[in-house]
Amino acid sequence: MTKARAATTAAAVTACCALLLTACGQDSTGGSKEEKGKKKQTIGVAMPTKSSERWIADGRNMTKILEKAGYDTTLQYGEDDPDQQVAQIENMITQGVDALVIAAINGEALSNVLQQAADADIPVISYDRLILGSPHVDYYASFDNEKVGRLQGEYLVEKLGLDKDGGKDKGPYNIELFAGSNDDNNTRFFFNGAMEVLKPYLDKKQLVVRSKQTKLNQVTTLRWDGGTAQKRMDDLLTSAYSRERVDAVLSPYDGISIGILSALKSDDYGSKAKPLPIVTGQDAEVSSVKSIVAGEQTQTVYKDFRELAKVAAEMVDAVLGGDEPEINDDKTYDNGEKVVPAHLLEPVSVDKSNYQEMLVDSGFLDAKDLG
Ligand code: BGC
Repeated sequence: MTKARAATTAAAVTACCALLLTACGQDSTGGSKEEKGKKKQTIGVAMPTKSSERWIADGRNMTKILEKAGYDTTLQYGEDDPDQQVAQIENMITQGVDALVIAAINGEALSNVLQQAADADIPVISYDRLILGSPHVDYYASFDNEKVGRLQGEYLVEKLGLDKDGGKDKGPYNIELFAGSNDDNNTRFFFNGAMEVLKPYLDKKQLVVRSKQTKLNQVTTLRWDGGTAQKRMDDLLTSAYSRERVDAVLSPYDGISIGILSALKSDDYGSKAKPLPIVTGQDAEVSSVKSIVAGEQTQTVYKDFRELAKVAAEMVDAVLGGDEPEINDDKTYDNGEKVVPAHLLEPVSVDKSNYQEMLVDSGFLDAKDLG
């Protein structure tokens, strides 16, 4: 351990105890640094955008947990602009934060700023999205991202009845594929997970991509933008579906799903004669869950961001306290410079049949918000 990090260690131990006690629902004030008259440590939290509900909740959850544990926090949103995010992280380093938690906008754009963090001996937790091309990423807190994609692929296969007895005679069904932002490392994990499930059916021509756009670089959606996805779906409907009907759409994220559904509805999908295709999603955003309840979007993948924030806060705490955080994966996430030790949480497939139990009863969403 370097000198600077050792110096922060003793002060961090109290915060570590505080976090654990808070997690157990006990009063943490006994262990807080404030009471002992020491300067609180500050954690810089860099989030990608406020344009999606999940990141707003992530920022809120992170600061709440860290503050309860006796840390100060500084939270910044990069508004989907990689340069802005770099500038925000640089500022946090200049301000002397003690640790950084970063959900990257462009996973490859942070090497220089992470070098500055390393020079100042500031540990870095990569939050949800892996930071690439830097050796200075201490830990990674995320979900099993390939499984997210598998859940989407499996849902499509199951709903089309391709996996059941007699499924081998089913089809061909028309499917179109969408992926996330090409600068987000999660994008290829989601897409590969889904394609692993869909490929055998594409090979047997039980699933057909009429646009012929099946490669990841043909189907990405910059910055996960719903409007961009809507435009692409409009174009696909015009170019490949003047006679045919689309039966299924692989969508990686709820905001993209809503864009796809808008394009479909403008093309008169949603009637008895022309039912909406099966459309997947991710994040269990309120507008998508409402859409699921209304019978439009079909599925989403629920990831409990409250748990993710806890895992990331525990990583911060452990690293500052000179401890090893609990990890459950040391193979999957190679960022080009190192395999980053990770703690991965489980995603869950949600549709109309289980949204009440998974999302409402669990307190993830408020029934009132769903109308
Ligand atoms: C996250 C998803 C999210 C997407 C768009 C991904 O990196 O893992 O949960 O839907 O970004 O914000």
